[in-house]
Order: sequence, then C-alpha cells, then structure tokens
Amino acid sequence: MSKKAKPDLLAEYLAKRDFAKTPEPTGKSGSGGGQSRGAGPGGRPIFVVQKHRARTLHYDFRLEAGGVLKSWAVPKGPSMNPKDKRLAVAVEDHPLDYAGFEGTIPADEYGAGPVIVWDAGVYRNLMAEKPDGPATVAQALAAGHVEVCLEGEKLRGNFALVHTKMGGSEKNWLLIKMRDAEADDAKGSQIADARPNSVLSGRSIDEVADADA
Ligand code: MN
Repeated sequence: MSKKAKPDLLAEYLAKRDFAKTPEPTGKSGSGGGQSRGAGPGGRPIFVVQKHRARTLHYDFRLEAGGVLKSWAVPKGPSMNPKDKRLAVAVEDHPLDYAGFEGTIPADEYGAGPVIVWDAGVYRNLMAEKPDGPATVAQALAAGHVEVCLEGEKLRGNFALVHTKMGGSEKNWLLIKMRDAEADDAKGSQIADARPNSVLSGRSIDEVADADA
C-alpha cells in the first residue's frame, strides 16, 4: 500500500512550486492519501498554524482531513476571544509533512518570505460527536461548517470554521473561538501578538528570516 498522497489531491500545491528553489516539502514522503488514522500521536489528526510573512503577514491555519492539510490564510491570525470572527481565506491543500516546515521561501517564489510554526497539536472532530453530524472533517467542510477541539500550545478548546462566502467569494470562511473554559474575552484577541514565536524552535519570524538571509 502506497503511503504517498494521491497526486490529484496535491496538484495545485505542486503546480505552484519549484522544488529546485523552495525548501518546502514536496509531499512525496510522510503524506497519506485518505487514510483513516491521523498523522499525530496515537493516530490522532493534527493541526498547525504557520505564521508567514509573504507580501503581507498572515497565519496559515491547517487541519488534517482526508490525508492532506486543508488550509486557510487568516490575515489577523486566530483569536481566543469568541467575539472575534476572523476571516479565513481557503487556499490549496498542503501535504501533511508541511506541518513541520519552518524556513524561508526564496524571493520570487510562490509565497516568498519566512515561515514559522506558530502553533501545532492534535484535534478532536466535534461534528462526529453530534447525533446526526457528519462523520469526517472532510464531510463537514463540504457542508460548510466544522467544529473542532484544538489541543495546541496556544490554541486550546473548541473552534468553528464557517463557510460564509462573504463578498460572494467561495474562498471566504470565518474562524471563530467557541465559548468554553478556554475562551478569553479579556486578552484572547491579542494572542498572536502576545505569543509571537515558534512552538518548534522558539524563534521569532525575524530570526528565521535573518538565519536564511
Ligand atoms: Mn501563507
């Protein structure tokens, strides 16, 4: 049984990148195609948030589903305050091993700029726990509404991703902290700035950019 992702799942990811130039993962190792076990400890599914200073600074929120990382660019970054509705723009699926990528995408390449792993961990699919809910995250996403419980270092507790199609764009979703014991109305909006560095290396995005300059 091949452990490679099905090529069609990552076609857009592969087409955008020249792997002779970018240090990003090719997706040819460590990615599964539609496997039932997740990529995290104990076969649990993973999530990652990468802070990426491309043309503009943003946070790429990625959720393992169906053997790939479903991905959204969140301009303002995630919030732990349930009153915030953070725009999350759907982007192409990424390979599972992208979750460990930290480094600098070279000038003139797609997404040029430094990337750090701002947060990472495993998650629980809350939709599958609802009586008539969709069984998989892939099914929930197709229906336009997913709720997950994140177990990261910074992001903890329940979050919803809602397909609003605001402004008429199919790519537009909202990332919203759900109300629970982890929610923080007082300081949750500032978590991206309050805890800016990598959970992998402790480095700031400037330190990664300088190291690769
Ligand atoms: Mn990005």
